[in-house]
Amino acid sequence: MNPPAIHPKITPIYQTSVFKFEDLDAVQQYFDEPGSRYLYSRNGNPNSDELAEAVSRWEGGAGAVATGSGMAAIFAALLTYCQAGDHVLCAADIYGGSAALLNLELSRLGIAVSYVPFEELYDLAPYVQASTRLLLCETMSNPLLRVVDLRRLADECRQRGLKLVVDNTFATPVLTRPLALGADLVLHSVTKYLAGHSDVTAGAVVARTAEDAGRLRQIGTVFGLTLSPMESWLSVRGLKTLRLRVAAHSENAGLVAEFLEAHPAVRAVYYPGRPTHPQHALAAAQGGGRFGGMLSFRLPDEVAVVNAFMQRSRRFPFAPSLAGVDSSCSQPLSTSHRALTDAQRAELGITVGLIRLSVGIEPVEELLSDLAQALK
Ligand SMILES: *Cc1c(COP(=O)(O)O)cnc(C)c1O
Repeated sequence: MNPPAIHPKITPIYQTSVFKFEDLDAVQQYFDEPGSRYLYSRNGNPNSDELAEAVSRWEGGAGAVATGSGMAAIFAALLTYCQAGDHVLCAADIYGGSAALLNLELSRLGIAVSYVPFEELYDLAPYVQASTRLLLCETMSNPLLRVVDLRRLADECRQRGLKLVVDNTFATPVLTRPLALGADLVLHSVTKYLAGHSDVTAGAVVARTAEDAGRLRQIGTVFGLTLSPMESWLSVRGLKTLRLRVAAHSENAGLVAEFLEAHPAVRAVYYPGRPTHPQHALAAAQGGGRFGGMLSFRLPDEVAVVNAFMQRSRRFPFAPSLAGVDSSCSQPLSTSHRALTDAQRAELGITVGLIRLSVGIEPVEELLSDLAQALK
């Protein structure tokens, strides 16, 4: 008797490290016809391919690789264009892990870095060297939510012969699609909004051209950066609600930002959706009128004040990540931005009292009343 035909609506989890071949002809087919079958999950797996294709579709790319983390995605993106002797530019407002990768690890492999202050991003002449290959930046920076004009930056990079690599983790493709604005690669910590439920560590890089997508996949395979079937499956499930979640995150964050701005204990609020934000108009145009779920605010620069807020808050646990459906808070100085030099931190204003909120999708009244009692 034949086994029953199985037609699952959802891609099952192919929790296998390797795939079977009938004979030598079958393995030859694998090499002759790329994409015709699977060999080994580090090289490719139906679940990680499904995630890569879904992120690539969201970002409007020619192809993608799913990676074991956002850091692996940044590493793969940089290696797509760089080798020993090359130089990269990096926006000074950058995730601490990206700075650590550049400062501590890639530097000893012969890839040098210079940081470009936010205000100077659109005239790179003083920073470009003969060996400069690319510029790395974030659509919305972590933790101060500065918004980069990607079209303008892509024009500047093109004129200088640089590739533009954009970390779109905070904005998500719901707000902004950097490839359409001229970026060459766009990457994500899928751990954050794309997966969205604080239960996966994953990353992805999407390329504008098929050639770069091929390079990315080779780098993923050979360096062993690729993602497991289970994490891929969870990320695909999260992605299905991305549009709805980002809308809800944005709405709640707008109301939380408004509340904090009016609160006497709060010295400053950094949220692109506030009319007081220096790039508010750009953020509105580039984000389609939505501003995302991340914001930062300043308390007095005293450890006791920050600790009291963290200890009192019930709805914003101090959990140094972001973008889950449940709210959380973090202090960049002690966590995400530890790896920055003192000078970099001072320059950016990353001090004791700077608190970053990841606003979730809970009923907003519950968030506002929790903040009110925590700030008392
Ligand atoms: C978290 C984060 C990363 C790193 O991603 P992991 O999944 O933690 O490796 C990179 N960029 C940004 C903007 C992030 O927030």
